Amino acid sequence: MRMRFIKRFSGILFLVIIQQLKGVSQQADLIFVNGKIFTSDTSRLYVAALAVKGNKVLAIGTNEAIKKLASSKTKTIDLAGKTVVPGFNDSHDHLGWLIPVGKFFITPFSVPGLTKEAVIDSLSRLIKQASAGQWVYGTIGITVLNDTSIRRRLLDSLAPNNPVMLAIEWGHGMVLNTKALREINIADTAPDPLSGWYEREQGTKYITGALYEGAQFPAWQALTVSEPQNLLNALRTHALDEMMLGITTVQNMSATLQGNAARRFFTEANLPVRTRIIPMPGSTDKGRSLAEWNNKNTKLSPLTYVSGIKYVIDGTSLEQTALMTKPYANRDRWFGKLNYPADTIKQILTEALTGDRQLMMHIVGDSATSVVLQLMREMASPQIWKTKRVRIEHGTGIISGAAAQAVRELGIIIVHTPQYGKGATLKTWLQMGIPVAIGPDALINPYLNIMFITTQQTDKTENISREQAVIAYTKSAAYAEFADDYKGTLTPGKVADLAVLSQDIFTIPSQQLPSTTSVLTMINGKVVYELKTKNN
Ligand SMILES: [Zn+2]
Repeated sequence: MRMRFIKRFSGILFLVIIQQLKGVSQQADLIFVNGKIFTSDTSRLYVAALAVKGNKVLAIGTNEAIKKLASSKTKTIDLAGKTVVPGFNDSHDHLGWLIPVGKFFITPFSVPGLTKEAVIDSLSRLIKQASAGQWVYGTIGITVLNDTSIRRRLLDSLAPNNPVMLAIEWGHGMVLNTKALREINIADTAPDPLSGWYEREQGTKYITGALYEGAQFPAWQALTVSEPQNLLNALRTHALDEMMLGITTVQNMSATLQGNAARRFFTEANLPVRTRIIPMPGSTDKGRSLAEWNNKNTKLSPLTYVSGIKYVIDGTSLEQTALMTKPYANRDRWFGKLNYPADTIKQILTEALTGDRQLMMHIVGDSATSVVLQLMREMASPQIWKTKRVRIEHGTGIISGAAAQAVRELGIIIVHTPQYGKGATLKTWLQMGIPVAIGPDALINPYLNIMFITTQQTDKTENISREQAVIAYTKSAAYAEFADDYKGTLTPGKVADLAVLSQDIFTIPSQQLPSTTSVLTMINGKVVYELKTKNN
C-alpha cells in the first residue's frame, strides 16, 4: 500500500524539485565576494565567495560562480580579502553570572584572590552606599573561602540589614551573612541538599554561612533576579559583546536561573544571539529539583531554545573537592568527593539512556571521571552511548590513556575549557577521533581561547592548529548540541551564521589574536552587528 503511494507521488515530487532548481530559489539575497572564507567543512575548507538566501547559505564557491546567483535585487558585499568564519558557538557559558546588581566588587580572575583585609575594606565601603535590603556582593578566591574567620558572624557585624554574598569566582563555594540566608529561607535546622553542603560550626547545627556546590543555587538565583531590569540589560549587553566577537550561538548552563525564572527572563530578553538554555537543576535534601524543568516549552523566543541537562558531578581541585585518585598534597587522606551519591549518578545516566535530554557533566577529578566512565560501560554498549552524545565539560580529568580510550569508545564529546585545560592532551584527543568543542566558561573572547589552544598547551606537542581550533569552535560545537544538521559549517543548506573578521586569524602572529573583533556578524541570514568605521 505504502509503496504504491510513493510511486504515484514521486513523479510529482520530482517535478516540484526541478521547478525549484530552475526558479527563484537560485537567486541570492546577498552575496559575499573576494574573501577568504573558512567553511569549517574539511572537504572544501576555503572559498572566495558565498551566497545567502533567506536565512540559509545558498551556495559557496569562486567569485565567478557566486556572482551568477545575483540579480538586480541582490546585495553584494565586497570582502576585499577579509577573513570570514562560521559564527562561533560558545559551548559553555553562564548567562547572568556576576551581573551588575546591588553594590558589588568583581576582581580579575585569581585563584588566591583578595586578602581578608582587602575584602572587608571593599565590603565596608559598599555597605555604606547600599540602600536597605539591597544585595552587596563580591568575588573572592581560595584565601578568603578557606579563612573560617570570614564567615556569617563577621559579615553580620558589618551588614545587619543587607544580604551579603562573597562568591568564589569560578562558582564552587560562597559565604553568606544571616540576611542572605533568610532571603533564601535557609535556617540552621535545614538539612544539606543532595548535591551540596552547608559548613556548620563544629558539633552544632549553626551554619557558618559557607555554602558549597549545589547548596548555592538558591542564592545565585536570588541575587540574579534581585533587580530584574538589570538582569535583562546584562543579558542584552552580553549578547552584544558576543556579536562584536563573532559569536552566533551560546550554550548557557543555567545555574543562576531555574526553570520558571529562566523561561520568564529569556522570553522577555528575546536575545539576538542563538541561545541554548541548558537546565541545571538544583537540589533539596529530598533529591534533585527537576519539577521546574519539566515544562515542555522548549522555544522561548525565535533564537532561544531549551535542551539537554547538566549536572556538576564533582567540584574543582582548587577547593580540593574534585574526586582524585591520589590524595591532595597538604591534607591527610583527603581525595575530594562526588557531589551526588553513586545511585543518583546511576539514575542520571539511566535518564540519559531512556530520555531525550542530552547529558552534560562537569567532571574534573580523574577518579570522578573513571567512576562515571565505568558506570557508563556497565549500563549500555558503546553503540547506544554514541547516539546519546554525552558531554564531559572541561575534561581536565581525562589525562590517562585509558580514560581517553573509554571516552572515544563511548562517543563522549569533550567540551574543553582553554583557561583550565592547558595541561590537557588536546591534540591527542583529536587524533584519536574524540569530538572536541570549546567551552570557555565565561571567558568569551574566541581569539584569546584560540591563542591558548594553539600555542599555550603545557606540552607543546598538544597545541592544535588554528583551523582545528575554529572547527572545534563551530562544526564540533554544533555536533555537541545535536545541531549539526542545520549549522556549524558554511555549506549550502546550513543557516547563514557567520562573522567577517577584523584580521586574518589564520596568519597573524598569535599574540595578536586576542585583539580580533568581528566587523560584521550575521545570524540566521540577517546582519545583526556591523562595525561602522570612518570610511563607510
Ligand atoms: Zn561552568
